[in-house]
Parts: sequence; structure tokens; C-alpha cells
Amino acid sequence: MAATTASPSISFYTQTPNFELTIDQFEEFALKRLHVLRTIEKSTMMKGNNNDGVSKKIEDAIRKQGLAQAGEVLDTVSHFILRLSFSQNEDLRRWFLKYETSLFLYRLKKLKTSELISAVADHCNLEPLAPERIQPIKHHLEKLTPNPERNTFYAVPFTQVLDLVSRRQCFVKAGIAYIDETKLFAILSSQFRARLSRSLALRASLDHDEMNRLKPLIENLDKVLLVTDDAPMEGLSELRADNVASHKAHMPLCMRQLQVGMEKDKKLKHWGRLQYGLFLKTAGLSLEDSLAFFQKHFTTVTGEQFRKEYSYNIRHMYGKEGKRGTYGGYNCSKIILGNAPSSGHHHGCPYKHYDVDSLRQTLEQFKIGDAASRHEILQLKTSGQFQLACLKHFEVSHPGAVSNDRVPMENVGNHPNAWFKASTAYGKTTPSS
Ligand code: SF4
Repeated sequence: MAATTASPSISFYTQTPNFELTIDQFEEFALKRLHVLRTIEKSTMMKGNNNDGVSKKIEDAIRKQGLAQAGEVLDTVSHFILRLSFSQNEDLRRWFLKYETSLFLYRLKKLKTSELISAVADHCNLEPLAPERIQPIKHHLEKLTPNPERNTFYAVPFTQVLDLVSRRQCFVKAGIAYIDETKLFAILSSQFRARLSRSLALRASLDHDEMNRLKPLIENLDKVLLVTDDAPMEGLSELRADNVASHKAHMPLCMRQLQVGMEKDKKLKHWGRLQYGLFLKTAGLSLEDSLAFFQKHFTTVTGEQFRKEYSYNIRHMYGKEGKRGTYGGYNCSKIILGNAPSSGHHHGCPYKHYDVDSLRQTLEQFKIGDAASRHEILQLKTSGQFQLACLKHFEVSHPGAVSNDRVPMENVGNHPNAWFKASTAYGKTTPSS
């Protein structure tokens, strides 16, 4: 790929990456950056967070998502993917611009002064002011710093450093702001913001085939909520092959539809087996019970066929075959951004993949909420807020859960297993439900 012009740990993302990615990598990279930007948003908005606490949260997210070094492949590619996705409308552009600039500024503040000076020379084409230009305004500069002779000063149009102007941290004369080297980050971040803002307005170009394949992902990235804690989820010890179906009412719509679809078809296609099998595994179903469970339902195949065609994949999910270790249940973003189910397939997220009429029928069939709450759910679906629609489904079918300390609501609407866990906990605290 073409290297992006970068100072040690900042990048202006001036060159579009030329790099081959699989669809999975594309999605993975995008979600990593989205996670970091959402962490910045959340940490800076949370009342009572002090600066150290905010910095620590941001630092942790950046490190965990592998975005510590600006200009590297993951950083560059993920920036351009989100740039494409968030250029769709004014609100998205504003959001992306705000938090990308925050990330840039955060990295900028980690640079040494010498690195800042060289970044300004590289990216802003600015030279330090010569002593003869400082002399006539020295008495003004003394109000900013006690020994102006010992500092390096720069002159920039005042519109580039409005923040410093409003905080009286620079001297302004004839439209020019004079700032000392400690304020260089203001120049750089303002440049970054202005360039990104221009680029967002020009939608990046991809050839049509690629664009069509990536379209669902690009168009829906901004609507994806992310799992707030990826610690492994505890399963239910009592889940067994013979009682999975009786837990159906505790499943979110995606998994419930897989169970219903499997009961109807007496089988489940590949993506459905994977989505449902991993969900059940994370929900606490053992490998032996998983094999027994699927075999019991796949009544159209013989025991021999089942062993040959299906048991390897089920064992693989539990890390007993192949090299790739163990997997956990898919979270909502993976399901929503994944491939859409075609006819005869039951995987995917009904809130994302069903049309409004089919979703309405499904909600009515399962008697989820009353007409008014179903209407609310459908409105959320129509506006593209699929995970919020799912959360609403949880709230209307588990009254009082939100204020019940014994119901772990964290990640309901972000992860099907969190939904299941919260619903089963609710069932135990309110046995009549
Ligand atoms: Fe399943 Fe998540 Fe969709 Fe809810 S939002 S139905 S849990 S994929």
C-alpha cells in the first residue's frame, strides 16, 4: 500500500490507501476505529470524568484496538473506510469530523515540541518568525510569555486558531495571529480539521463492483452500536440439548427465528448453524449437548450423514477441530453487517434484514408488546436503528427490567447473548414472566 505522509504518530491521511482487504478485514478495521471514536465520544461526554480518567480510557481503547501508531495500515485503512461511511449526510460528517479531530489532537499532544515543530513545517508550510519580525511586537508577545526571545513564534491567519483567539492565548494584528511554539497543536489540528472537512464533502471513489459489495456495510456502519465490554459471557449451566427449545422466549428475535426456522425445515443452512451454534455455545450448551441438539432437530438426515456433514463443523466451533481455536457467539454488529439471508436461510438480524411487513408479522406472531410498542419498534427499524429496536423489544417484553439491579442490561441490543442472559435473569427474579 502507499505509505501515508506522517509525523511519528500523527497522520493527515493525504493518500488514499492502495491495499487489498478481505470483506472481513474491511469490517474488522472499520469497527476497531469506530470503537475508538465512540470511546472518545462517550468519555468526553460523561459528566464527572476528570482529564486523567478520560485520557486513560482513550489510551486503553487506542491500544486495545491496535491504533496506537498513526499512519500504519490499520490506522490509515480504517480512517478511509469510516470517512467513506460517514460522508453520507451532514450529521454523520459532523460527528466524524469532531471525533477524528479529537483523536488527532489526542495524538498530537503526545508529541515532543521538536516533533510538533517539524510537523508544522511538513504539513502547514510554516517557518518560525525571524527575529526582526518579532522585535516590533515584542511588548505584545511578552504578555503571552515572559521571554519572547527564547521562544519560537509563528504567524498564521487568525481564522485558523479561533480557539486560541477566544481564549486570548495569542496576539492578533491585521488578521494575523502570532502564537508561540507551545500552541502549535492548535495550528495543526485546525489544518487537519479543514482538510478532513473538505475531503468529507467529496465522496471517495471506488469502482462500482466494489462499491456494490461494500454498500450495505458502508451504509450501516454509523448505525452499529458496539459491545461495551468484550469479556467472555458466562453461560447457563442448566442449558442442555433437551431444554434449549424451552428457552426460546428468552432469545432475541434473531436466535428465536433460527430455532423456529430449524423446527420448520428440520435443518439449518451453514450461516444459520454457525450463528445459532455459537450463540448456544456461549449461552452454556456443551459440545456433547450441541451435537445431540442439532442431530435431534436434523431429522431429514441419517446419523451417518450427520456425523459426516455436520459434526466436524460443530466440533470446530468448540475448538476441537481445525487450527483457529475457539470462537464466541457473534455480536450484533457482526450479524447486522454480515451477509443478508436469502430465501430458505434464517440467519441475520430480523430488525436489519426483514422488510417492515415481515417484521410486523413476526412481532405479532410472537405477541411482542401491544400495538403501540410494536409501532415504536417498527419506527426504529425504519429509521435504521436496528439495535435500538431490539432493545425496545427487550424493554416491552421485560417490564421493569431496566430498574431491576439483578437484570444485567449491559450490552442488551449489542449482543444476542447479553439479551439472553438478561432475559433468563429477569425470568428468575420475576418467575411469573
Ligand atoms: Fe439479534 Fe442483535 Fe439483531 Fe437483536 S439487534 S435481533 S440481538 S442481531
